[in-house]
Amino acid sequence: MSRFLAFLMPLSILLLTLGAIQSIGTHQVVAQSTSDTLPPSGDLSASVLLYHRFGEDTLPTTNIRLAQFDAHLKQLKSGGYNFMSLEEASTRIKSRDMLPSRTVIITVDDAYKSVITEGWPRLKAAGIPMTLFVSTDPVDQQHSNYLTWDDIRTLKREGVEIGHHTASHLHMPHAGLEAAMADVRRASARFEKELGEVPTLFAYPYGEYTEALRQAIKAEGFTAAFGQFSGPMGQSENPYSLPRFPVNERYGNDARFKLISQTIALPVADLIPNTPEITEGRNPPLFGFTVDRSVRGLKALACYPSHLGKAAELHYPAPNRIEVRFDKAFPKGRNRINCTMPAGKGRWYWLGRFFYVPGGKLD
Ligand SMILES: [Zn+2]
Repeated sequence: MSRFLAFLMPLSILLLTLGAIQSIGTHQVVAQSTSDTLPPSGDLSASVLLYHRFGEDTLPTTNIRLAQFDAHLKQLKSGGYNFMSLEEASTRIKSRDMLPSRTVIITVDDAYKSVITEGWPRLKAAGIPMTLFVSTDPVDQQHSNYLTWDDIRTLKREGVEIGHHTASHLHMPHAGLEAAMADVRRASARFEKELGEVPTLFAYPYGEYTEALRQAIKAEGFTAAFGQFSGPMGQSENPYSLPRFPVNERYGNDARFKLISQTIALPVADLIPNTPEITEGRNPPLFGFTVDRSVRGLKALACYPSHLGKAAELHYPAPNRIEVRFDKAFPKGRNRINCTMPAGKGRWYWLGRFFYVPGGKLD
């Protein structure tokens, strides 16, 4: 036995060395050579998808066509995917537990009527759980295209996890900390009265947050909070600003859906800047992070900021340290950057961030 092991050892070292040499090559070669870096029986991340309306074809930026949604569910039921509640997945991420490989979580924001008429019946039939983030004012105002409290109680009874999405769906950073948290508490009182409990998960309206809001939402007792910028939920993320992939008509085609539903969070540390607000003296920011040593083939990493229309220039000041240089300042308003690289077996590592420059239109 020991002689057998002695034979195997040099072989494994040789294979590791070959993998390292291959990883210097093209995307294609790296895609093959990094496949052995995947965790053996699970991922340290999950893909959280964000929908709003189902089959309301006049509003393409927040809608998914029913034919598109049916295709998504067909993909998710084709094998190899796992599902769990958002509460469980975010708890596991926080406690650094492994999740089943290709874990996908469906979330829906705003409580439009088509959730109960079109979205949930299809998910229920497919056996896929759902989390619904509710803003309470439109429900209280009994808008005809919104769910009623009776609808929400029905969904809850059928196993839908209800999340908190403020009362008035306000721009929280614009409103200021005090007004924003007063709005949150007003919604909490409505949830308590109508559902008998306050949700433990929170989603920022429009995905907008600041460092002060992250801390206030944590202090309010929520267990996790979500934005709406692309990326899988992973252990390198702040649990009070977790990413979700927006899915809508424009970004709802089968190829993109297949890509985002099986992403792996790029494990990083020492990410700067770690808050989304870009102040005048720091625009463009120096964006940098250190990738965990378990990930190889970093030369295949590419970062696409929303304002350049091309990949940004990357620098490698130390092993596994990446610094992204922008030759142009971010414009006012919302900006995004997505860094991706092949992870093998058709899957991609993904790191996404959202930045905003004050003074821009946020609608
Ligand atoms: Zn919303």
